[in-house]
Amino acid sequence: MSLKTLIAGAAVAATLATTAAASATDAAATANPLLAPWSGPYGGVPPFDQAKVEHLKPALEAGMAEQLAEIDRITANPEAPTFENTIAAMERAGRTLDRVRTVYGIFSSTLNDEAVQAVEREMAPKLAAFSDQITQNEKLFERIAAMYETREKSGLTPEQQRLTWLYYTNFVRAGAKLDAAAKKRLSEINQQLASLYTKFSQNVLADENNEQLVIENEADLAGLPESARTGAAQVAESRVHKGKWVIANTRSSVEPFLTYSERRDLREKVWRMFVNRGDNGGATDNNAIITEILQLRAERARLLGYETHAHWRLENTMAKNPQRAMALMEAVWTPAVARVREEVADMQAIADKEGAGIRIEPWDYRYYAEKVRKAKYDLDETEITPYMQLENLREGMFYMAQQLFGFHFKPVDPSKVSVYHPDVRVWEVNDPKGNLVGLWYFDPYARKGKRSGAWMNAYRPQERFDGDVKTIVSNNSNFVKGKPGEPVLISWKDAETLFHEFGHALHGLSSNVNYPSVSGTRVARDYVEFPSQVLEHWLATPEILNRYALHYQTGKPIPQALVDKIMNADKFNQGFDTVEYLSSALIDMKLHLAGAQAIDPDKFERETLGSLGMPSEIVMRHRTPQFMHVFSSDGYSAGYYSYLWSDTLTADAWEAFTEAGGPWDRAVAKRLIDNVFSVGNTIDPADGYRAFRGRDAGIDALMRKRGFPVPAAAEPAAAKSK
Ligand SMILES: [Zn+2]
Repeated sequence: MSLKTLIAGAAVAATLATTAAASATDAAATANPLLAPWSGPYGGVPPFDQAKVEHLKPALEAGMAEQLAEIDRITANPEAPTFENTIAAMERAGRTLDRVRTVYGIFSSTLNDEAVQAVEREMAPKLAAFSDQITQNEKLFERIAAMYETREKSGLTPEQQRLTWLYYTNFVRAGAKLDAAAKKRLSEINQQLASLYTKFSQNVLADENNEQLVIENEADLAGLPESARTGAAQVAESRVHKGKWVIANTRSSVEPFLTYSERRDLREKVWRMFVNRGDNGGATDNNAIITEILQLRAERARLLGYETHAHWRLENTMAKNPQRAMALMEAVWTPAVARVREEVADMQAIADKEGAGIRIEPWDYRYYAEKVRKAKYDLDETEITPYMQLENLREGMFYMAQQLFGFHFKPVDPSKVSVYHPDVRVWEVNDPKGNLVGLWYFDPYARKGKRSGAWMNAYRPQERFDGDVKTIVSNNSNFVKGKPGEPVLISWKDAETLFHEFGHALHGLSSNVNYPSVSGTRVARDYVEFPSQVLEHWLATPEILNRYALHYQTGKPIPQALVDKIMNADKFNQGFDTVEYLSSALIDMKLHLAGAQAIDPDKFERETLGSLGMPSEIVMRHRTPQFMHVFSSDGYSAGYYSYLWSDTLTADAWEAFTEAGGPWDRAVAKRLIDNVFSVGNTIDPADGYRAFRGRDAGIDALMRKRGFPVPAAAEPAAAKSK
């Protein structure tokens, strides 16, 4: 951090200091490492070696103040609005806050403790109010609107026109055209929602951190493979139960237990613990919070002139409206439920044959599904796992990236780039000519304070309009860390997730645009999962498996016979997977189509699932009280359908490869990169897809992929763009 930047940071804050409180903040800001432009190699990297929780609040406040000052300069400009002095100026503004929010986001999602939570509770409503302060700035909106009106005749490039459209649309959708009273109410709602989202997330995290199954007796691990035993022992050690075993209340601990444990009573116990997160009464119960969120969202949608929150959220997506999203979900739901009936019948037959004397319940599904897989496909998941070494598969992903994208990954010397936790590693990514493409951070292991699941982040988007800025992306997951020096073995599904998140990273790394707001993964919600899902397919290619799926003891590649069995079983359990997911997606959409009525989440969930004909043997992948996608932000609200929507594109895009020269067909890969991966949001996604495929995607490929009957009169309308 240079002295110059210190002074600049302080100067900006000082001009805005109007109260004693703000002045006090300035003093802190002066010494705040989060405010300086990132220094070091690669065009600067996040200052994780200096970042501390106590820096977050003052840095956020100074960043907001700086951005408001920048916007004041834009609106005070006496010249008529131009792209350069308005839209481009907006793209330039808020850089300090962007950097601070990156670090803040990392603390929130991966280093979350009491101190971070206190900052979140305080800052969430302030950040919401700040955002409204910008979209409700009338002078600013006038300039943006003027640009929007003349965008087609101002000599703008197509990217500039789309960016102008995006600014205008986002402002209008956020209430820029409302009267003063409505704007005031809107801002109140947004601040309340921000606080409720924070509370919701913290409650889920509390139940995940605080509840666990402690196993004292090794005999109670009956059925668990070695990797799950080691994992449980490691979790126990990290939670002061050394010498025992702990099943943490997170998906990565719970799912292997449900799959393998022979102890039906313990499976039920673990299952209940997991599906009741956020639904346990007491201080961490989310039900009342959900009711309030839904009512505020409904009120906001009406204020903004939309029928429901779902209509508002879907307006600028590929689906365009809830009806088209529902049509796709319903087209898949019925065959998926029919498949579940077949799967349950197969499982029940095995249970009966074994004389178990049970009826299949939700805590039995994964366990008996494994037995069916063995019986029907002679495939045992525990046979696969010894070949699924995390670090080898990561190398496999790099190989894929090199073959398809021309990207080369090289580990970064840890002394050159600081990380926020010793488990995090960094790679630099170069193109075939050796030019820097960006950085890839990898944070693979579960730990307390890290949110569950897997995700990708862009710490810094690619851009070029003011100088060539390289992107920094990260992949995060929750693999259970093994003993030191021992390889981490993961399931086939986890390996698919690894490739999925890496697909998001490659989407970010491939970005080749001018403006950061339309860069990388900043695309429509129901389109963003397409690049990531499509990359999942490469895991199962012989080129990856033969080279990288190596046995952790013998080093031998996975036998072809086992690969054949995996391929042969690739439509196995699709009923379960689809219904588990789709029930959550349907509940999400229906909750947000229900309008302003006061909703009791448990009752709504029960009744809606009843009317959908939800199989009693399956529970939603995310029950309402723990549905982070939907209630931790507006993010995937009325948007969980996006995975299915994207999968129609994914399945169809994969067929473009199989119809041509196969997965490694360079011409198809190039079309995919040119029209999808590299363009960000500079073009309409439907146009991008059409340019890649030569037509729109129908539903046929999706149904084939999942092994469901392809409808006689295939219904392309459901997945079509326009
Ligand atoms: Zn994803």
